[in-house]
Amino acid sequence: MNTKAPNTRKPEAGKHEAGSNAPASNFIRNIVEADLAAGKWAARTWGGRPGPARAHAGSPPDAAKIRTRFPPEPNGYLHLGHAKSILLNFGLAREFAGACHMRFDDTNPEKEEQEYVDSILDAVRWLGFDWGEHLYYASDYFDHMYEAAEYLVQAGHAYVDRQSAEEMRANRGTLTQPGKDSPWRATPPAGNLDLLREMREGRHAEGSMVLRAKVDMGSPNINLRDPAIYRIRKAEHHRTGDTWCIYPMYTFAHPIEDALERITHSVCTLEFEDQRPFYDWLLARLAEGGLLANPLPQQIEFARLNLTNVVLSKRKLIQLVNEKHVEGWDDPRMPTLVGARRRGYTPEGFRLFAERIGVSRSDSWIDYGVLEDCMREHLNEVAPRRMAVLDPVRLVIENYPEGQEELCEVPNHPQKPDWGKRSVPFSRELWIEREDYAETPPKGYFRLFPGNRVRLRYGFVIECLGYDAASDSVRCTYLADSKSGTPGADAYKVKGNIHWVSARHDYPAEVRLYDRLFSAEKPGAERDFLADLNPAAKRTITARLEPALREAAPEDRFQFERHGYFVADRIDSRPGAPVFNRAVTLRDSWARA
Ligand code: ATP
Ligand code: MG
Repeated sequence: MNTKAPNTRKPEAGKHEAGSNAPASNFIRNIVEADLAAGKWAARTWGGRPGPARAHAGSPPDAAKIRTRFPPEPNGYLHLGHAKSILLNFGLAREFAGACHMRFDDTNPEKEEQEYVDSILDAVRWLGFDWGEHLYYASDYFDHMYEAAEYLVQAGHAYVDRQSAEEMRANRGTLTQPGKDSPWRATPPAGNLDLLREMREGRHAEGSMVLRAKVDMGSPNINLRDPAIYRIRKAEHHRTGDTWCIYPMYTFAHPIEDALERITHSVCTLEFEDQRPFYDWLLARLAEGGLLANPLPQQIEFARLNLTNVVLSKRKLIQLVNEKHVEGWDDPRMPTLVGARRRGYTPEGFRLFAERIGVSRSDSWIDYGVLEDCMREHLNEVAPRRMAVLDPVRLVIENYPEGQEELCEVPNHPQKPDWGKRSVPFSRELWIEREDYAETPPKGYFRLFPGNRVRLRYGFVIECLGYDAASDSVRCTYLADSKSGTPGADAYKVKGNIHWVSARHDYPAEVRLYDRLFSAEKPGAERDFLADLNPAAKRTITARLEPALREAAPEDRFQFERHGYFVADRIDSRPGAPVFNRAVTLRDSWARA
């Protein structure tokens, strides 16, 4: 398998090179630094709201030193791959005193919905970023885009093509053969302008014609063979309603959006590399015509995130939701950001992850365990410890008086004494993990078996008598002078140390044990991706929790000792009755030897 652990060393959360607070560098940071050093953008005084360059000649200067943008299409929920892009774009802006624009690329009228817009904004905020006044919609620029289209037509850089879709496909050529000019390519500008205006007025049927840029049908780059830039779509748009019946194509719209907003570094994933020549061609033509001002935005590509054991394709994510393989976009198994949040992942964990995987131009797969490690690292720092028995069996202490109870002092974080201690009730009957007892112990087993002594964590040393099948309970006696923290308790040397919850005081709670959504590293690589779903990705149990957990608020995170990190579900928890989701186990059970 060619999954690769990222090359970077393991920095501590929030820390980087020793003696320096600067984040590890990458090629995009290097470009930004070089541009800043060269003063590439220094002459740019435009600020404030976007619009065509000439409309902003007198605008006040804007303090932003660079401008990046995060431009999702509002046609799905954000996923773990988007987190990489968000952290990169907003991170660069933060680091270099710039601004990052939040922009919805809503040029396609059919698939976009307000629900997606809202959830995308929520997710970016949750990751810790703020776009300030810079919230834009591509549809806000439809007038400018249309103006640009008319300009291109008038300047002889675009024409209306009336070939059928099949003809266009046939004449586009192939990777090895050049394309053929459309018979409509030679139409003079005036005729094209009339047709474009008729298209705009709704006088032609969908698919009967498109506006194409006139670049080069012989180019080895298929993207330069007169790409379509406007098409007829008689559809309602979620923001512009029925104002338009022609819509700009993404490859035309995107560079214009960037330029109007005066983006300096337009960072995108590698699949857009072949589009860059058209991006540059288009902006250069519009600058020539005075519709845009130099310097123009620079497109920079990086390798997208590929993560094992999940899928990061909107189409597949939508399928998982629509066909009910999961319980919705925010199902904690889903590799969406809303799912990750419910799962108990943290923004800080994502930040650590982004730093650790770095940014490069070579495609690679990141092992899901790297993401889990980052979450563990952060959760270890912030999650108080609690005791929880997930697979309970009763433990009866035969020499502990019935009806008696006492409190044990338990640290909230073993490495953070300043987090204090809490009192946990102890009594004659406790819950312990079923696997902490063995009738005949395997080699190296130090927990309960007849005749063996173990310590009940932060409590007493007990000696095991055996298991009673009739009452389904493990029986033991305790050593009254062995209580943790009391003088002489250390005199007892035992190898096993197990957690417990008082049966009389427990909080029996619904706990969901989540695991990776797909059991295959590359879902769908060898068969339909649905066949690779991990049936054990969710298991719901009733666990026995220490009583303090009853008070957990939604999104409170804990380490359940010896088990992993858990979060009180933000949707299903009720006051006094939280439900818990496992974010991540304490150790990676998927790592191969
Ligand atoms: P679509 O197929 O609908 O275009 P998309 O994944 O490209 O899906 P967008 O909403 O267009 O989704 O993405 C917004 C931004 O997130 C883009 O700049 C895109 O390059 C980036 N992005 C998407 N997927 C990843 C990924 N796996 N890794 C890094 N960045 C990504
Ligand atoms: Mg996209």
